[in-house]
Amino acid sequence: MGDKKELELQFKKHGYDDYKWIAPEHIVVSQWVRMKCMFGCSSFNNNASCPPNVPSVEECMLFFREYSDVVVFHFKRSFKNPDERHKWTKKVNLGLLELEREVFLSGYQKAFLLFMDTCNLCGSCTGLKSECKNQSSSRPTPEALAVDVFSTVRKYGYQIEVLNKYEQEMNRYAFLLIQ
Ligand code: SF4
Repeated sequence: MGDKKELELQFKKHGYDDYKWIAPEHIVVSQWVRMKCMFGCSSFNNNASCPPNVPSVEECMLFFREYSDVVVFHFKRSFKNPDERHKWTKKVNLGLLELEREVFLSGYQKAFLLFMDTCNLCGSCTGLKSECKNQSSSRPTPEALAVDVFSTVRKYGYQIEVLNKYEQEMNRYAFLLIQ
């Protein structure tokens, strides 16, 4: 691993100041997360970056083991209107993609971003990986890779709760895998 201080300067330059370095072995990957995608989430089969367009849970576990460092970025907001939320998450995800590219170009060839919300870069998603309209920029969320975000971020003192009203403040997390 190179210089974390240099990477933190890049994070700062992009305006990110709420993040934590976490150990990849502390990322909790669980079969129940995939089950929740398959049963109860409207993105299943409808988003090209979500299951079933992603690796198996076992492959996801192996993938995380290939990294030495992970940064979790925290974002919190509340909205009355779902459309406002989607505009915000698209903007945040696009900003994170710029950071991922910069980290990659500074020598971290394995840099890989997990979006803080389901990929919504296009007006409507094809639902099929082979037909994704933006292959180079689409990324999965941590949840799509079977990460139990609740258990993982709580290990580091971050807040996350099940919400039961749309207007409640959301705590959302993006992961940047680095090596
Ligand atoms: S880039 Fe577009 S088509 Fe591809 S996963 Fe994202 S929203 Fe869907």
